Parts: sequence; C-alpha cells; structure tokens
Amino acid sequence: MGVTHRLAALRRGIQQHEASIDAVLVTESENRRFLSGFTGSAGHLLVTAGVSVLLTDFRYVEQAGAQAPDFEVVKTEGHAWPVAGDLVARMGVRRLGFECEAMTVDQHTRLRDVLNQKAPGVELVALRGFVEDVRQVKDAAEIALIREAVLIADRALESVGAGLRPGVTEREVAWRLEVEMRERGADGVSFPIIVAAGPNGAMPHHRPSDKVIEVGEPIVIDMGCRYMGYCSDMTRTFVLGEPDAQFWSVYSTVLRAQQTCEDGLKAGMRGAEGDLLARNVIMQAGHGDHFGHGTGHGVGLAIHENPYLSPSRGEMELRTGTVVTVEPGIYLPGWGGVRIEDMVVIGADRSQILTTAHKAPVVDISAA
Ligand code: ZN
Ligand code: ZN
Repeated sequence: MGVTHRLAALRRGIQQHEASIDAVLVTESENRRFLSGFTGSAGHLLVTAGVSVLLTDFRYVEQAGAQAPDFEVVKTEGHAWPVAGDLVARMGVRRLGFECEAMTVDQHTRLRDVLNQKAPGVELVALRGFVEDVRQVKDAAEIALIREAVLIADRALESVGAGLRPGVTEREVAWRLEVEMRERGADGVSFPIIVAAGPNGAMPHHRPSDKVIEVGEPIVIDMGCRYMGYCSDMTRTFVLGEPDAQFWSVYSTVLRAQQTCEDGLKAGMRGAEGDLLARNVIMQAGHGDHFGHGTGHGVGLAIHENPYLSPSRGEMELRTGTVVTVEPGIYLPGWGGVRIEDMVVIGADRSQILTTAHKAPVVDISAA
C-alpha cells in the first residue's frame, strides 16, 4: 500500500486552510516519513497543489528516490534553505506554511533571511498540528504495523512476566523485556521501559533501579516497541504471590475504570469525555486525587500524539481509525501504584482493543 492518499489529504488541507496558504514546508521527521514513505533521518518536504519535492543530502538521495516515488528528490549541500528558497521562488508561492513546533528559532531566522533574498514578499504562516491532523486517522497499513508492534510487546511480556521471581531487580526485568522485544523483530523500544516495584510504583514514570522485587508488592511494567516506525504502549501490574486486600481493592477499581472507558469510547466523542469515562469510576471509589495523569493518548509514528484523553488537553474529537491508549492508574505514596494500559482503535459505535496481554496480576511463585 502506497502513501499517495496521504499526500492528497495534505493537499486538501492546504486548499481548505483558513490562512490561504499555497505551500507547506514539512520539517518534522515523523510527518516527513508519513507523507513520503522516506525513512531517512534528514530531509524536508515542500508541497504545493501541484508539486511535491523532497530535499535531502548526498547520504539519502538514492534511498529517497526509491522510497518516495510521489516526490521529486532534490539534493542539498550544507543548509537546505537556499535550495528551498529557489524552489519557493520558482513555484510562485505567496504564503508558505511551516511547522512552528518543529523548527528552531535559528532555523526560522535563517529561512526568513533566505526568503527575503530569493523570494521577497513570501509570507511565512505558522502551522500547528497541520500534518498531525492528517496523521490522526490511521489507514489499514498503519493499523497492521501497530498491531504487530503490540503483539511483539505482548509476547515479550508473556514470556518475561510468568518467570518473575523475588530477588530480581527492576533493571534486570527491564533489560529482559527489551531483549525479548528485539529478538521478536522490534526496531527498538518506543520509550524507556518502566519497571516500578513497591513504593516506586507510586511514581508513574519511575526509572528502573537496582531495587530488588519482593513478594506481595505491586509491580508496574509499562513497555512498548517500535516496529517499522510504529509504536506500541502497554502497562500491566503484577504481584508475586498472594496480594493483600488493599491490592485487590485498588486493582479492581483500576480495571473497572479501564473496562468502562474501553466499552464507552467511540468516534465523535471529545478526548475529555473519554477521560471522564475512566476518571468517574476512580473518583467514585474515592481515589480521584490518586489519579494525576490523563487516561490516554494517541499512538502512531510517535509514542505520544494527538488526540489526548485528558481533562486539560482533551478538546480534540476522536475519529474512526484513531489509535489511543486507555491507561487509568491509582498511585498511593509509600505503598505503590497500579496502572493497566491497552491500545484501542476508535470505531463508529465501539472501539476495538488491540492489546492481547492478559490482566491476571498474580504470578504463581510456588514452583520457584
Ligand atoms: Zn505506557
Ligand atoms: Zn501510554
């Protein structure tokens, strides 16, 4: 499956843009990959209604030609802006959109200077989330890659999780998970793996330490991989041996919050409404103050992307084909935390869960 339809969607966005732009300069690396298919680490796209150019340097010219058939590849030497400036002048661009979240002040200043010289009168229009908006709805090829990234992480956790025993350190568990994912074909981790045992689990983004895992304490494992560019993200909470009543009470609340949210999520809802589905359950259980992060986030070429299931960043509408996480948690200082995270595809009237890892938290250690 090619990516031509994505370029077409971008062009519709250019035509309909309220600021009457007639071209877009794409500098964000995941947007470049998404629109062109080019996987190299350097390059820019310049797109108008009729022309699409990929600017890259000597190292990538051949690769870009093979991977991005919809683009004319132009080789740059040193700074790309003089070449971009010549193209902008030749194409007769008047209002050039640029990605203000993916350009440094220095790059912007240099671009402005080059345009003043080579294409005077061209206006720069700051775009926020412009290509990301096209990226929000995943096509079938993207869903297939995400599914594979999810499966690799699920299987790695299955294999490492069942073998968890007291005495192993958080760092050792994180490393085993990473090795398992790489051996199953992952490009790498999609973010540094979190293994947080006992009180460490009260910190949602704890870094794995030399802490030894002990019987009866909650162990939060948050992990994911990248497969052909696409990310997975999943959390499970385990306990070695029989947990106490507190654990079951917290765990069952988080699980209920997650299931309620997964059952209720559908297209047309705003991210903040999705967040509330989970948050209400946790608040009703008296743990509202112990759930200090959003319920979920979009996942794709980036590990965190639009839209967000969040009280503060949830203004965006969920659309059919959007992939988000559902990851409520409860964190109790001094005790630890419980978080359970799946990835789901938003559908017209219900959502589909991609994550397959089981949610039975107790690891039987009697055979150890
Ligand atoms: Zn996660
Ligand atoms: Zn997440």
